Amino acid sequence: MSSSNKNLKIYNSLSSQKEVFNSINKKMVGMYVCGPTVYNTVHLGNCRTFVSFDLIFRYLKHLGYKVRYVRNITDVGHLEDDTQEDKISKRAALEKLEPMEIVQKYTNDFRNTLQKFNLLNPNIEPTATGHIIDQIEMIEKIIKNGFAYVKNGSVYFDIKEFNKKYKYGRLSNRNLDDLINESRQLKGSDEKKNPQDFALWKKAGKKHIMKWNSPWGDGFPGWHIECSAMGHKYLGKQFDIHGGGIDLKFPHHDCEIAQSESVYGNNPANYWIHTNMLTLNGKKMSKSLDNSVFPNEIFNGSNKEFSKKFSPMTLKFFMYQAHYRNTLDISNHALLAAEKGFEKIKMLAGEISTINESKKNDFNASEWVDECYDALNDDFNSPKLIAKLFDLHKTVSEIKNRTKSIDLKNKKILIRFYKVFYSEILGLDDDNLTHEKYDEILELILELREKERLSKNYEKSDYIRDKLSELGVKINDKI
Ligand code: AMP
Ligand code: ZN
Repeated sequence: MSSSNKNLKIYNSLSSQKEVFNSINKKMVGMYVCGPTVYNTVHLGNCRTFVSFDLIFRYLKHLGYKVRYVRNITDVGHLEDDTQEDKISKRAALEKLEPMEIVQKYTNDFRNTLQKFNLLNPNIEPTATGHIIDQIEMIEKIIKNGFAYVKNGSVYFDIKEFNKKYKYGRLSNRNLDDLINESRQLKGSDEKKNPQDFALWKKAGKKHIMKWNSPWGDGFPGWHIECSAMGHKYLGKQFDIHGGGIDLKFPHHDCEIAQSESVYGNNPANYWIHTNMLTLNGKKMSKSLDNSVFPNEIFNGSNKEFSKKFSPMTLKFFMYQAHYRNTLDISNHALLAAEKGFEKIKMLAGEISTINESKKNDFNASEWVDECYDALNDDFNSPKLIAKLFDLHKTVSEIKNRTKSIDLKNKKILIRFYKVFYSEILGLDDDNLTHEKYDEILELILELREKERLSKNYEKSDYIRDKLSELGVKINDKI
């Protein structure tokens, strides 16, 4: 294991400060991140959160930990705030599809998009519908311990009862009295003892498709219970890291903590990490605000807010130029600047390997490497790391201009660690052959063939035509 992990500090939302990272098991890390609700095309804001956790996942692995990264798929139980309709069921009615077709369609979209960003797959991607029994069992335990009550076939978490022993709202620093005052104005459900009580299980009406049999009749789980049940199942009663977007802090994560405490007597995770929001014109990008920018629109240049198309890696570089705990505003101007910067950094690998080494040395590569690790150890500070890459770009230019020199030993360190930071940790290599790139390559081949054909080099042009035909690409020449 590398020595640099001793210094890793993580900002823990529970204590609101940076803490030295100590995993429960010396060599392993358990990390649970709340995944998407698959009822809609994933937008760039969602992507930012998963891009941020990819860096965390990659860096922990780089430090030598065996990481079990669990990221769930919410495919039932996430209700609309106002109408209390299940988001998946509502979308299914709208698109005239089965709810499970909606789930499949948007899960595929989610996975394809994250692949374009070159994100590593989590180790387990459990779904809520695949864990109904686990959720029912956990709800039964909460009832047995006296922290939930059954009403007309639904089960609600009893926050006042819970608060007699524990403290609800620790993560978001809310206290129950404030919450009671806030929610007086809210339309309370008649079934709940208190408006702040949240559903663990909802009774399903006759027309409801996504429902399961339970000790309380046919119904479906509430949103918060799935993460508690699946987190415990795959990572244990207490694990290292729990993450998600900052908008999930309350109520979702405070409810998760309450559920775990009421069954196991402890907070499920030692470190809570929350990523901040991607905004557009200063407003949170959100499915409900209807201001979403979709990744494909950026990759193919069809979004009117942007003057041209940008590659997934440019977007990723742009995201990493901000720290994950700060908000980040996307704009055409910002992407153009990121693209320019990324071009410089991208070229570095080739440039480092072609610089001439000399006997003299003006650049301490080990020091530079240490500073890069310092950036990452400082709560995964990607903008600081990128600033170090820009420093390196400047130095390499100076060495090329012969205003500075580097010896072989330091050059070798640079070659090795540039790759570590750029490829292994930031994951900026674009080795996916995207559809757009495939189209561009095909266009190039056709153009070359056309040139051969017009110059009457029929042997070559026919060869290309036949080979393409074998691959299933048919060409119809217009005489
Ligand atoms: P959802 O599918 O809405 O549950 O969101 C999936 C994940 O994306 C959650 O962790 C959210 O916190 C996160 N998320 C949603 N909107 C944004 C945004 N504008 N910027 C960053 N993360 C977001
Ligand atoms: Zn969750």
